[in-house]
Amino acid sequence: MRHAPTRSSTAADPASAGAVLVTGAAGFVGSHLVEALLGAGHTVLGVDRRTPTTDRMAAVNLAAVRDHPRLRLLHRDIVTDDLTDAVAGCVAVYHLAAIPGVRASWGSRFDEYARVNIIGTRRVLDACVRAGIRRVVVASSSSVYGSVDRPSRETDVTRPISPYGVTKLASEQLCLASALRHPDLVVCALRYFTVYGPRQRPDMAIGRVLTAALDGNPMTLFGDGGQQREFTYVADVVAATIEAGSVPQPPPIVNVGGGASVTMNEVIKLAEKLTDRPVPIVAADWQAGDVAVTGADLSLAERSLGYRATVGLEEGMGRHVDWLRRLDPELRRAWWAPGSTPCAS
Ligand code: NAD
Repeated sequence: MRHAPTRSSTAADPASAGAVLVTGAAGFVGSHLVEALLGAGHTVLGVDRRTPTTDRMAAVNLAAVRDHPRLRLLHRDIVTDDLTDAVAGCVAVYHLAAIPGVRASWGSRFDEYARVNIIGTRRVLDACVRAGIRRVVVASSSSVYGSVDRPSRETDVTRPISPYGVTKLASEQLCLASALRHPDLVVCALRYFTVYGPRQRPDMAIGRVLTAALDGNPMTLFGDGGQQREFTYVADVVAATIEAGSVPQPPPIVNVGGGASVTMNEVIKLAEKLTDRPVPIVAADWQAGDVAVTGADLSLAERSLGYRATVGLEEGMGRHVDWLRRLDPELRRAWWAPGSTPCAS
């Protein structure tokens, strides 16, 4: 499955840059988005909840910007805390806070998925409406599509096959319902296809493959490695997200993908080439909720956001492995390669 986007995306115009809010600011994608928005001249309010895990994550993910004069970090839980002061004065809200990951959503943590991804999204939207915010960009997921046999289009029927996918679909639908009820509110839900790059969540596949090669600790491979994923480099995801916050009238739902689908076996081969080491594998059964194939039709993203995936897999994995190599090895072992399972969010 290959499909090449054609147009290049543009950065936000710093001259018109206002204050913006990013929820999930300490996370993998959120921290890259914060950096890019600061670089584009915005004043950024970064919201994340305070837990020991988030504190450790923020220390790594936001290290480069935490003293930036235009960044303010607020500890807020989007499910329980008042968000009025967080959204006040913002021209746009980028809502990324969520409990991500497919597999754990089958277990006892589902309550938390439902609370954060559904109730939390509703509360963020509510705060935005009360504050008169006119633009909300929300991170959705390719997981809403379920099993597919061709590149997914935004108009395709959605049939999520994991509880996580169901919560992301509910979150999208809440955005659409809010926009219908409040015509001044423009919402854009971006369906991200498996994002990778420096600071990727430790439960995700590419970071785990690369860490397994670097440290020699076996990684668990579910199924035969023939599953295909459209991997998207984080800088491309961030560029699309910023565009969705700044173009005059973005579509309500847009795919954001990397431009090609590859198998896990291909990813493993590439990791071996980039590290010049074998990737030790422990085979395991296919997991419920994992789809066999993800692939994005990117024509709407090209037309509406001028989106183009600019970083191919080999280049992106090269940057990812460079970052892993620069990380303190202790930290890498303890934090970026725990015994968690790779996911396909
Ligand atoms: P992440 O876990 O690194 O970041 C999510 C952030 O949300 C974390 O910092 C977490 O602390 C915060 N958060 C969770 N609950 C919160 C709460 N109650 N209040 C405030 N903050 C809270 O995940 P990520 O991979 O960066 O994903 C970001 C977004 O993109 C999510 O919405 C995810 O569903 C979506 N997404 C990610 C991928 C991917 O491949 N990474 C793919 C599709 C969609």
